[in-house]
Amino acid sequence: MLDPQQVLKKYFGYDSFRPGQREIIEKVFQGKNVLAVMPTGGGKSLCYQIPALMIPGATVVISPLISLMKDQVDSMREYGIPAAALNSSTAQEDVNPILRACYEGKIKLLYVTPERMEMDYFRYQLNFLEVNLVAIDEAHCISQWGHDFRPAYRKLKDGINALHTHPNVLALTATATKAVREDIGQQLDISEENFVITSFERKNLHFKLVNAPKNSRAYIVNYLKQHRGEAGIIYSNTRKKVEGLTEFLRREGFNVAAYHAGMSNEERAQVQDDFQYDRIPLIVATNAFGMGIDKSNVRFVLHANSAKNLEAYYQEAGRAGRDGLESEAVMLFHPSDLRQFRWFIDNSEADESYRQVQYQKLQTISDYANTDECLQQFIVRYFGQDCPPCGKCSNCLNSGDFQDVTAEAQAIIGMVYDLDGRYGKRIVAQAVTGSKVKKISEIGADECVHYGLLKGKKQADVSSLVDYLVSKGYLQLVGDCYPLVHVTNRGWDVLDGKARVKRRQEVKREQLAETGG
Ligand code: ADP
Ligand code: ZN
Repeated sequence: MLDPQQVLKKYFGYDSFRPGQREIIEKVFQGKNVLAVMPTGGGKSLCYQIPALMIPGATVVISPLISLMKDQVDSMREYGIPAAALNSSTAQEDVNPILRACYEGKIKLLYVTPERMEMDYFRYQLNFLEVNLVAIDEAHCISQWGHDFRPAYRKLKDGINALHTHPNVLALTATATKAVREDIGQQLDISEENFVITSFERKNLHFKLVNAPKNSRAYIVNYLKQHRGEAGIIYSNTRKKVEGLTEFLRREGFNVAAYHAGMSNEERAQVQDDFQYDRIPLIVATNAFGMGIDKSNVRFVLHANSAKNLEAYYQEAGRAGRDGLESEAVMLFHPSDLRQFRWFIDNSEADESYRQVQYQKLQTISDYANTDECLQQFIVRYFGQDCPPCGKCSNCLNSGDFQDVTAEAQAIIGMVYDLDGRYGKRIVAQAVTGSKVKKISEIGADECVHYGLLKGKKQADVSSLVDYLVSKGYLQLVGDCYPLVHVTNRGWDVLDGKARVKRRQEVKREQLAETGG
C-alpha cells in the first residue's frame, strides 16, 4: 500500500507536503477529530482528499456553496479521483446512482451541503454507506462568532452522530479567531491538542502598496526594468486589459505571455509550461492563472489592478516566493477598480447575505489600501491571527513624515454631519470641495456650513482622504448597495477638537513606490 507521500505524488504530482498537511493527515489516520486552520491556498483540500483515497469506504465532504463544490469535483476528476456532489441542483434521477457508486467504492469523495445532512431521508440513505471520515470545509460557518454563520452547520453534529460508522471529523477553515476555534472544537468534539494551526505569516514576502499611481503602465515598465531576469506574474482584472498590457509590454521589449480563460486549453497549457520551465519569465494574467501552478521561484507578483477581496489577493500574491527566498507582492490600487467590483455585486443574482459578505470584503481591500500599519500584519490579522510588524513592507519602510490633516478631516466629517448621513462618498467629496454640479444644489448641500471648505483641492484627493478616514474608523460606511457615510464616535472627537488626525505624506508614499525602495 502507498503511504501519504506517495499518494501525494501519484495523484497530485507534488513532491512534498505544505506546512501542516502531514501532521493533519497523520492525526486523521490516528482516528482523531482534527481542526485544521490554514491560510487560503495553503492546501486544505489535500488534507482530506489523501485520507479519502487511502481509507476504506466513503468520505463525506460538507461544503457550503454549490459553485465551490462543483469546482472541487471537477478538479478531483481532472486528477483522476472519483468524486461527486449531491446538492439542490442534482437531478433527482442522479441521486441514487451516485449513492450506489459510493456504496460500490467507485466514488471515494461525496460532497454535500450542510442542509442535506439535516434531512432524515438523506441520513437514512447515508447509513447504507461506510462513511469513515466527514470533512467539514469552511468550518467557521459553525460559529456565530464567525463572519459566515450558517444554521445548518450547527446541526452537523446530529447528522454525524446519526451515522452508525462513527466517522472521524476533520474541520477545516482559513479564518478562525480563538473564539471561533473554541466553538468549533466544542461543537464537533475536537480537543485542543488536535488543533493544527499553521501560520498565515509569509516572512519572505515584501508587500508593497501603490495608491492610485498616476501612470500604471509607466510604473510597471519601470518595475520590470528593475527586476530583469526574474520570474513574475502580473495580474489584471479583465481579459481585455490582460491582452492590452501584454501587447504593450512586448512593444517595450519584454518577453511576456498572456493567460486568461478565453484562450484555448492548448494555448493555456503552452503558456503554463513555458513559464514553469523558464522559457517565458513574465505572465500577464487574469485570476484564471494559478490553479495547478507550482513554480517555486516566482520572485514577484504584481497586481496591476486591485483584487476583489483580501483572500483572493493573499492567495495570488502568495504565489511569489514559494521557495522561501525574498520576494515581492505589489498592488497598484485604483479606487475605480472597486467601483467596478461593486457594480458586479450590485448586479449579481446571489442572495442578500452572500452579497453583504462580498461588500464587506470589498471594504477590506479599500482599508488595506489605506492603512498605514504593517501590510503583512493587516492581512494576518484579517485572518484572525497576529504577527509583529514585518519591517519590510511599503508601510514599515515608509519613513515619510506624518502630516497633520486634522483641518481637512474636520471639514469632511463636518460635511458628513451636515448631510445627515444620507449620502455617499461622492456627494460628500463634491460638496466639501464646493462642486457646482446640479445634484449638490438640488439637495441643498451648497447651503451647508462645511460646503466648499476644501475648495481648490482635487476631488480624487478628498475621496482618498475619505477612504482613509473610513479605514481609521473616523467615518463609517453604512448599507451595502449604496453605502452612506456616517460619523463615528471617533469622528466626533475630531470634530470637537479632542483628537487629531495624522496621515503619512501622500507624495512620499508615491515616491517610495516608484523608486522601488
Ligand atoms: P485551500 O483550500 O487551503 O485554499 P487548496 O486545497 O485549494 O487550498 O490548495 C491550493 C493549491 O495548492 C491547489 O492548487 C493545490 O493543488 C496546491 N497544493 C496543495 N498542496 C500542495 C503541496 N503539498 N504541494 C504543492 N501544491 C499544493
Ligand atoms: Zn510591514
